[in-house]
Amino acid sequence: MNKRLTLPDIKELLPHLMHVESTIEVKNEKITKRIKDWLNDYRLDISRNLKKSKDEKFFIYVTHLLARTSNEKWFSKISSYFSSIGSIDSINKRNINESKFKEMGYRFPNAATSVVFRAKDVFINNYESDWKSYFNKANENYESDFLEDHFLKIKYVKHKVRDLALSIFSENFIAVDSHVIDVLRRTGLICYSYVYGLELSTDNVKNYLPIRNLCLKLSEEARISLGELDRIFWHFGKSICSGKPKCNICPIQETCLYFQSK
Ligand code: SF4
Repeated sequence: MNKRLTLPDIKELLPHLMHVESTIEVKNEKITKRIKDWLNDYRLDISRNLKKSKDEKFFIYVTHLLARTSNEKWFSKISSYFSSIGSIDSINKRNINESKFKEMGYRFPNAATSVVFRAKDVFINNYESDWKSYFNKANENYESDFLEDHFLKIKYVKHKVRDLALSIFSENFIAVDSHVIDVLRRTGLICYSYVYGLELSTDNVKNYLPIRNLCLKLSEEARISLGELDRIFWHFGKSICSGKPKCNICPIQETCLYFQSK
């Protein structure tokens, strides 16, 4: 007899995930909290980041544009290096050059130098050195993932790193990560891509925008921000469902497609 599988309902599933504990390393210290508490921290982080100065925002933004070779060690090195430069006006060929990035262990020093100078140019000439107006434009156009963004026209800046940079300042942007994709696939939520008419391919790069748009639709259905949905799935994936899933302690076994099909 054929077994009937039922797709999970995002609104019913999310409250169960809020109580899951997730451990992450912050400044060499392992911290464990429930996902609902990580969510509060996430919202606070965004409001803190929006209060930073124009120059601080620029260096945070650009550090994330360079995140294609990101790892914790490299990330903190480049952040403190940018802090030592201090201001956008002080960016010049003496302090931003290939050898500086090589010293920091960045794998694409030539690309990094070019991205920093182009980002300075875009910020000053296309966005008149005004983060507020840039973020407003991004938030007005988040449904289409702000495709007309001038930062996206910079060579070496792909959608994912631009989205990552914006996600530091806006709940409307996320950089879809493998933990989130694992959760979408295993729970069966990925099947909603057919319901919403989002075409998935076998190519992970081509899938980036359809999966981001699927998350957007699910967040609208659940009446939370895209960023909140992403954070919930990211923590849940990292602590329970990614890699070898810990189904025995999972609170959503009964609605999970992977578990039902076992
Ligand atoms: S039951 Fe297993 S596969 Fe399904 S969501 Fe939970 S951990 Fe993931």
